[in-house]
Amino acid sequence: MSNKDQLSSQLAELENRFRERLRVELAEMANVAKQAQSDNSDPSSQLVLRDQLHKLAGSAGTFGYNTLGTACRDLEVQLQQQLDNPSADEAIIRRLAAQVIQLDTLLIDKADTLRHAPSASEEHAIANTDRHIALVVEEEELAQQMSQTLTSFGYQVSQFAELPEVFKSLSSLDAVIVDTSISEWKAQELTEKLRTPGSEPLPLLVISSDDCFNSRLEAVRAGARGFFTKPVDLPSLESRLERSFTNYQAGPFRVLIIDDDTELAARYALILTSEGMLVESEFDPELLLEKMHAFGPDVVLMDINMPDFSGPELAQVIRLNDDWLRVPIIYLSAETNAERQMSALLKAGDDFITKPISDSALLTTVYARAQRARMVSDALSRDSLTGLLKHADIKDQLDIEIGRAQRSKQPVSIAMIDIDHFKSVNDQYGHPVGDNVIRALSNLLRQRLRKIDRLGRYGGEEFLAVLPNCSIEDAQQILDEIRTAFVALKFSADEHSFTCSFSAGISVCAAPDWPDEGLLDQADKRLYQAKKAGRNQVCSESDKAAS
Ligand code: GH3
Ligand code: MG
Ligand code: MG
Repeated sequence: MSNKDQLSSQLAELENRFRERLRVELAEMANVAKQAQSDNSDPSSQLVLRDQLHKLAGSAGTFGYNTLGTACRDLEVQLQQQLDNPSADEAIIRRLAAQVIQLDTLLIDKADTLRHAPSASEEHAIANTDRHIALVVEEEELAQQMSQTLTSFGYQVSQFAELPEVFKSLSSLDAVIVDTSISEWKAQELTEKLRTPGSEPLPLLVISSDDCFNSRLEAVRAGARGFFTKPVDLPSLESRLERSFTNYQAGPFRVLIIDDDTELAARYALILTSEGMLVESEFDPELLLEKMHAFGPDVVLMDINMPDFSGPELAQVIRLNDDWLRVPIIYLSAETNAERQMSALLKAGDDFITKPISDSALLTTVYARAQRARMVSDALSRDSLTGLLKHADIKDQLDIEIGRAQRSKQPVSIAMIDIDHFKSVNDQYGHPVGDNVIRALSNLLRQRLRKIDRLGRYGGEEFLAVLPNCSIEDAQQILDEIRTAFVALKFSADEHSFTCSFSAGISVCAAPDWPDEGLLDQADKRLYQAKKAGRNQVCSESDKAAS
């Protein structure tokens, strides 16, 4: 069964369950309405009726019972007017109750619920590795050097003699690097030519011998996202290449749904999951905080009216924790009263989606909020030089991954990495060149590690990598490969070129003890051992003599 078929059948099953529930709820409401008819001096049954109408007004439309939903909303508003009115009209209440009893006739009138045909989730998942780069560089030596460097950063590189050849292979390419000294260089033509029908133009980086304004302007007109003069500083070119790919998201968006209406929650979850998001629901508000910790959502979808708590109350509880200030809270509510919406937002929360909720409104709102939350969160938690997580954030990630490892019984390895004799790089070539080296190593680590790995700049020239589902032997091998690639990188400063190395210490949280403390210390000690043993090496065992 295709994803789409599966989604349709799951939705259909949910709809059947909802229809059964509607029958029961409408029968209950009819009973309450009869009570309200027979004794309208007692407002309690009217209050119950109003709450039932309110709930149904939100859920019925979401499942496609638009007429029923609208009728409930209408009746709710009229009933509320009577409840607010000290001299309520008995005749009106009796008429409203009679209409409630008739509501089940509207059950037949059901719109097609699958209004939005979700696109395949694969569309959002763009692979980050194996990017294919076209090189159009005439000088043999430069072309060779670039190809080698980019390959060591994990890119796939193809060399082309001229641009027209590149245009023929656009669909298999992810970016183009062009030296303007080639004869076919025509800036005006390039922007259009680098575009496959219906898509964005490919990222273009330009290399030039002229360091003047005009050649830069020409590059910009060609749509370039980077401009480099010769001799080309390859690590900063790689850094720019990496940034020109906008897809820096770490994994799918995570959405937490808090709604006591399990069918509705299941429906939202299906729709969001079909677009590649990770969704979890929590029906018990008392478990909310635990869930926030364990799941780490990008967005919270919150029902407003729940039996023992209100949505704004729960939102305020979430906001008491500094860690979750960045997480947007979107209310899902049958509330159409603007004033009450505002007052909920003033307490806590960021947005409202009003029930009944169309699938596309749900998707668009959640997607936009999650994307922006990621961007803001990224800007706050990432180091500006390298784009990696900052000290506190990588330590948070470490704690999260250790917890996950202990629960899933999969080892997590930790690598502490420090550039060798870095002070002398700064002293000899200056701080900006040192910065380039730091950036180069961070790019290399990012390229070589997997998407699920976590990477942070722990200190000046020190990095911390957290590798889930990775044994210490595998970690040792991966780090050694990265070390070899790093040593092979040629950095340039003025007329000089030089190389660098790093040392690393690795520790692991694995069977039989699954330790959750002392791992950083242990990695640090092994890093020190690697330094002492001569640098440019990775150490994953404790020195027996020293311990
Ligand atoms: P070792 O092999 O023992 O690690 O020697 P080292 O010189 O790398 O170690 P040390 O800790 O003595 O020096 C680290 C240097 O890194 C000192 C500091 O000025 C420099 N540094 C820290 N942050 C940055 C930065 O952001 N940019 C640059 N260019 N240098 C930095
Ligand atoms: Mg160092
Ligand atoms: Mg250091």
